[in-house]
Amino acid sequence: MQLSKRVSTLTPSSTLAITAKAKALKAEGHDVIGLGAGEPDFNTPSYIIEAAAASMREGHTKYTPSGGLPELKDAVTDKFKKDQDLDYYQDEIMVGTGAKHVLYTLFQALLDEDDEVIIPTPYWVSYPEQVKLAGGKPVYVDGLEENDFKITPEQLQSAVNSKTKAVIINSPSNPTGNMYSKEELEKIGETALKNNLLVVSDEIYEKLIYGDVVHHSIAQVSQQLKDQTVVINGVSKSHSMTGWRIGYAAGNAELIKAMTSLASHSTSNPTASSQYGAIAAYTKEDGSVEKMRQAFEERLDCVYEKLVQIPGVSCVKPKGAFYLFPNVKEAASSCGFSSVDDWVKTLLEEEKVAVVPGSGFGSPDNIRLSYATSLDLLESALERMERFINNHS
Ligand code: PLP
Repeated sequence: MQLSKRVSTLTPSSTLAITAKAKALKAEGHDVIGLGAGEPDFNTPSYIIEAAAASMREGHTKYTPSGGLPELKDAVTDKFKKDQDLDYYQDEIMVGTGAKHVLYTLFQALLDEDDEVIIPTPYWVSYPEQVKLAGGKPVYVDGLEENDFKITPEQLQSAVNSKTKAVIINSPSNPTGNMYSKEELEKIGETALKNNLLVVSDEIYEKLIYGDVVHHSIAQVSQQLKDQTVVINGVSKSHSMTGWRIGYAAGNAELIKAMTSLASHSTSNPTASSQYGAIAAYTKEDGSVEKMRQAFEERLDCVYEKLVQIPGVSCVKPKGAFYLFPNVKEAASSCGFSSVDDWVKTLLEEEKVAVVPGSGFGSPDNIRLSYATSLDLLESALERMERFINNHS
């Protein structure tokens, strides 16, 4: 089959690949511990499920407006006001089938052939592919481990040229869990404004933050910067609703209109009942979101301490999301492996622990561990990893 040039350049998602391999081993009867998951391990809170079920019984089973129900857009604008004191009008919001598809639509609406988008590494696996699919060129800027994987304004400035159209900021980050402070966002924002860059601010992990950190959106820095920013968010991670596929963008009305028009020819609209579920998620409350956050925090504190005691493993402590992104280069070479990718593959084969190699996120010395699984399993996984290192050293 002669496939398009467009798809032939795609890199398959390393996150999904490792999850599929772990599932296959499990199906063969192996006792696999999967730490590859990119989704919370809790069920969606029942008040949300009830609201969606009620909407279907009431007959909301038809097409909706392409960019989302007006009631959902209201719930989203109210959330922006309440949480971040940001004012958006309905025509500045587009709801789509998950933040992933909203981002895809954004790049399709924004980029012309060879336009450049600055992507800090380590990055979420879909950013570069989505930029490429829109004809654009990903330009990587290294978020150094010694700077908690964050980029500096100077690094951003030196990557800009006349073709640069946008920069992506993902805080809290997948895969590192690190966050930009208010001051850091002010400086990055200044550089973005100076160079007339659109800031794509992916805030999907906004609600999953730990310790005494506060989440800041770059759109909160100034009105000028808000006008130059598209905020991406959704209910997948905050409300454990990954399968519902509801995400949204907030930004410039002309851009939002173009994205909505594109969606009208691809998805038509996000699933109606999921939209009713998302309205409930944002307008009702039963404490379960905070309970999930607390469970993640407890796991992080426990697992982090154990992880950094493993020989050859170092890790910047994350501030949010549900991932750890340790550097295991030393552990891999002490085991005689020339690459972390090979180390990860053998770890799965021998100890049946599935982690995601950092190469897929642009950081080949690291691995991503998701702590969206029970503490018992996390502890066993770390014991197995330590045994694996001892057996090979
Ligand atoms: N952005 C980041 C950084 C993510 O990690 C994910 C999911 O893994 C998404 C966006 C997409 O979320 P969804 O499409 O489920 O709304």
